[in-house]
Amino acid sequence: MPTIIIVLITITLLTFYVLDKLAKTAKIQLFGEYFLKVNTKEMVVALTYDDGPHPPYTNQLINLLNRLEAKATFFTVGKNVEEHPETVMMLVESGHEVGNHSYSHKELIWKKPAFVSAEINKTDELLRRLGVRNEILFRAPFGFKRFTLPYILNRMHKKHILWNLDPKDYQENNPELIANRVFENVTPGAIILLHDGGGDRTATIAATEIIITKLQAQGYKFLTVSQMLAQRNNTN
Ligand SMILES: [Zn+2]
Repeated sequence: MPTIIIVLITITLLTFYVLDKLAKTAKIQLFGEYFLKVNTKEMVVALTYDDGPHPPYTNQLINLLNRLEAKATFFTVGKNVEEHPETVMMLVESGHEVGNHSYSHKELIWKKPAFVSAEINKTDELLRRLGVRNEILFRAPFGFKRFTLPYILNRMHKKHILWNLDPKDYQENNPELIANRVFENVTPGAIILLHDGGGDRTATIAATEIIITKLQAQGYKFLTVSQMLAQRNNTN
């Protein structure tokens, strides 16, 4: 093979590799409104739960949150919403926020714009039918994404809600360890990433009780992401 072709192939592969890395990991979006946390001096935090609704864990979480008088935000996956509409209705009735985490939880990078739009619109429509009335916030499957997705979110005027505190509940079954990671890193306005979907969530539920009890004793209030955004400083 001539050297020039080898060089061209290498450059192409390298460029694709760099773009792929950027699309997957960048914490900066090129378009649209996105939030890693909320700028506020109030003692408020937002617990967010991804990948549900997923009975019985989501239902157990709702009961726990209601008992502790804490609000949370659930980024639901459309196909799970179709399977468990009654759990979504329970969330709505309890005053928790229901967000959109795509329809099928596929990576939304290197996908056609029509596919990405459909993933978002389908889930919004399902949630609307189940009584979700306020603005529906979005969180991308697998988090930070550049390029197509932010462009589409911007066109839809949809806020992208990321997080600044990940206690890694998906790889930990010791609730104390999950809770400690939150205590070590919590600040006013923090958006905390947890999961009600994906397997046995017993540890996440136990950690939630520890987190809320201790932080409430320190004066923290647990709000939905939208409630917390309403309290943000104008500088954000
Ligand atoms: Zn997810």
